[in-house]
This record gives sequence, C-alpha cells and structure tokens, in this order.
Amino acid sequence: MIASHLVGLLRDLVEIESPTHTPGVRAAAERMAQELSALGGAATLLDGNHVRADFPGAGAPLVLLGHTDTVWPVGTLARLPFRVEGPRALGPGVYDMKAGLVTMLAALAEAPAAGHRRRALRVLITADEEQGSITARPHIADAARGAAAALVLEPCLPGGGVKVARKGIGRFKLTVTGRAAHAGTQPSPGVSAIEELARQVVRLHGLADAGRGISVNVGVIGGGTAENVIAERAEARVDVRITRHDHAAELEAALRGLEPSLAGARHEWSGEWTRPPLEASAGSALLFAAAARHARSLGLALAQGGSGGGSDGNLIGALGVPVLDGLGPDGGGAHAETEHVLLASIPQRARLLALLLADPGVP
Ligand SMILES: [Zn+2]
Repeated sequence: MIASHLVGLLRDLVEIESPTHTPGVRAAAERMAQELSALGGAATLLDGNHVRADFPGAGAPLVLLGHTDTVWPVGTLARLPFRVEGPRALGPGVYDMKAGLVTMLAALAEAPAAGHRRRALRVLITADEEQGSITARPHIADAARGAAAALVLEPCLPGGGVKVARKGIGRFKLTVTGRAAHAGTQPSPGVSAIEELARQVVRLHGLADAGRGISVNVGVIGGGTAENVIAERAEARVDVRITRHDHAAELEAALRGLEPSLAGARHEWSGEWTRPPLEASAGSALLFAAAARHARSLGLALAQGGSGGGSDGNLIGALGVPVLDGLGPDGGGAHAETEHVLLASIPQRARLLALLLADPGVP
C-alpha cells in the first residue's frame, strides 16, 4: 500500500502544470527544492529552473536524475484532472515523471539500512528534458564530474524492468530544390521537388536496419505551392535513432550521400544528433547486478532492457558515467491521454532505490 502523504505529494506535483519553458516549471522546481531541503539536501534553484541538491555521505557521489517538465500544455488538467481510479493514478505527467520524483523523495526519506552509510548524493532535477535538455546540459556535466554512477527515475519498462541502454536520436531536415514550371507544358522544363522528395523518402526508410537497432522515420513532409505548378521546393523532417555511437557517422554519411534521383534536383541537409545513444557498459552491468540483488531481497525479479526513447541518462552516460535508467514506477501511456501510474509501484521502487543508494555495487 502507498502512504497517503505520497499520494498527496503526487497530486500536488501533477496539479502544478509544468510544460517545458512555462512558469509552472519554476513552481514545480521550487516545490522540489523545498522537499529536498526538508530531507537534508543543500538545494539550489539553478539558472533555467533546474534544481540541484547535494547530500553529504561517503565515497564518490551518486547522481540522481529526474525532470519537472511535461509534454502537456497548460489547461490539460481541466480536461484530465488528477484522479485515483482503483490501483492507478491518472493525470498529465503523472507517469513521465512526477511519480518518479515522488519515488525519489520517498527513497531519500528512508533511513539507510543497518550497516550502510549512505553515499554522497547529487540530485539534479532538470526543467527542459522533454525538449532535449538544452539548458540543462551544463548542469548535467557539473553533476557528472567525479560521479560514481547516475540513477535515473524515468518510468521503468512495462512490468518493472530497468533500462541499461537507450537509443541516440538525430533530427535532420532534407530540403529539395527543383525547377518551377507550368504543370501543363509538354515537354516540361520543370523539375518536381515533390517527385524527387518522394523518391528520397523511400530511400531514407530503406536505411533503417532493425537488426542493428537503427530506425529512420520521415515524420513530416511539405512542399509545393499549387496544383498547377511543378514544385520548386519540398522538404522532409527525419528522425534517426541509433544504438551505438559508431553508427552516428555512418548514418550521417548515408543521409548526405543520397544522390538526387532527378536530373536538375538538388539536396541540402541540416540538423544534428540531439542525444547520443546510451550504451550498456561494464559499469551499468555492476549497477544492474546490485539492483537485481536488492530486488530479490524484496521478493521481486528485476529485468533489464533498452528503450527507443532518450532521456538525460543518454547525456550523462556520454560523459562516461555508468547509468541505470528506468528506476521510476510502473504504469503506462507516457505522452498519451491514458497516462497513468500504478500507485503500489511507488513505495516498491522507493525501497529498491533506497537500497541501491546505500549499496550501488560500483566503487
Ligand atoms: Zn521523462
């Protein structure tokens, strides 16, 4: 059973609507800073409405990561209020990742187990994770310096598994230039940017390689001006995901190396890798082994896996810090109307995290 004060805390956090780059993010950050101070952390509100709280303790510090921002616009609560229905709590951002924040606070409130002194901790709650953590990056780098490991409170895999790998993400744009002409002129002097783009979309999707965990998705296309004009310009926005760092250069070369299919058409690429992949490592294996051992002591089996989505775990992992992600509670429907968290999972994950904080399995 979950304690009623934790449900109250979850309600409070969900009822502070906090889409990225809105005043609600500051309100959520202030509330988190207050809670972290009350638990003995030296909490500071950083530039960009991120929160950092340091807790004294033994050894190289562990970093605890979470985020206050959500993908839900202000006003969503009027339509989808916080509510408890049977075993679930629902509401915007409840699962991704306000329940993760509650889990973190509940774990910090638990006294370390007998015989263990708690490790030094750096808590970092970022404010723009849902938009790539652009302003959080320097603070993530600060928190990473000399850290032994990072524990990320993002939602777990369905059923409770933790995440030891996450795909890296690139956002690219292909702009095609052709030559405008009247649609009825025969033979036409025009070169259709739309036809060229259509051919390239098929080639782009052909670059995906499920076996190597590479996905390529043209998610948005646009172009042309009128039915009776051969289109001069068209563009495609492409999401590329990779599982390994060394796939990045290969994919980028493949994109930029696509030859125009129509004589007279030109390609221009822009965009970049927005998050590096988080790769399973020797360090993450040690963290997982410790977490699995603690889970067994609680009578639980812990699975591990990967995720196609990115998180701040990708960023801190790229700085050489071992990462265990997906330590947040179970639920479903992230970024969807059905978003919910399983309430019983919150105290369970909090106990697991408390054990891991005392004994993370890494030096
Ligand atoms: Zn999240």
